[in-house]
Amino acid sequence: MGNDGGSIPTRRELVKSAARAPTISEMKANALESLAHAWAHDPLTSEPLDMDNVVSDWRGRLYNYETILRSLMPSDEQPSPDAPTDPPSNGAGPTFASTGIRSLRDIVKLKVTCSGDKGTDVRICPISLKKLGPATKAVYLVPCGHVFADVAIKEIREELCPECSEPFKSENVVPILPADKADVKRLEQRMEKLRAAGLTHALKKDKSNKKKRKAKGTAEGDSSGEKRHATEEAVKPAKKDAPSKTSGINNPMAASLTAKVLAEQEEMSKRRKLLARS
Ligand SMILES: [Zn+2]
Repeated sequence: MGNDGGSIPTRRELVKSAARAPTISEMKANALESLAHAWAHDPLTSEPLDMDNVVSDWRGRLYNYETILRSLMPSDEQPSPDAPTDPPSNGAGPTFASTGIRSLRDIVKLKVTCSGDKGTDVRICPISLKKLGPATKAVYLVPCGHVFADVAIKEIREELCPECSEPFKSENVVPILPADKADVKRLEQRMEKLRAAGLTHALKKDKSNKKKRKAKGTAEGDSSGEKRHATEEAVKPAKKDAPSKTSGINNPMAASLTAKVLAEQEEMSKRRKLLARS
């Protein structure tokens, strides 16, 4: 065997050629790794994602709600000169401006089911019980924000959210961190259509710049000594109130929308105070 002129490649040659062109499985592993990172980290701050307070833009990217609130704070309303004026950023990832998020109407707060296993933070699809993450294609529904495995939502006949019975249209099933080019294209077309109709990603009327100033001053006073030591612990309980304020989007009456916007602005104002002290 062999001895016919050395046509059999040596191990060294094989290794070299592998380094030049990554195999498909290597490329898949790399893609999975970056997807896993995106599932676990806020792209703007690189901080770990808090799955109880996670929001998504129309591209299906995930952010901490806190990051978006901080980034949306109008700089001309800063309470003191030493308050942070720049959105949190590690300098390496995308900038907030590049996300295109201009108001809370451009994001949807996600409701991600917890597996309930003690001591873990495993998130699952409430229908298929699949573990949500980079290995499972996941989607969320607009407007309600409930998150499911893609396969589970495809099985549903009626266009009602299985968790909250809120109606949704198939075009408003948004893939989370889509890797598929077809999905990305579909999301772009969806957003174009919404913009043309004067709507935001969250299916709200695109008039984000109105009413913003009215909420100013709602969180005055209440500057007790304990609050000066506001840390993560102090900020976190406040976050728990957030879901109720963004739910019920299916009933887009002007009055309730206005109330919500004002409530959100008030919350932002409170947070700004907390953050300014921390
Ligand atoms: Zn729902």
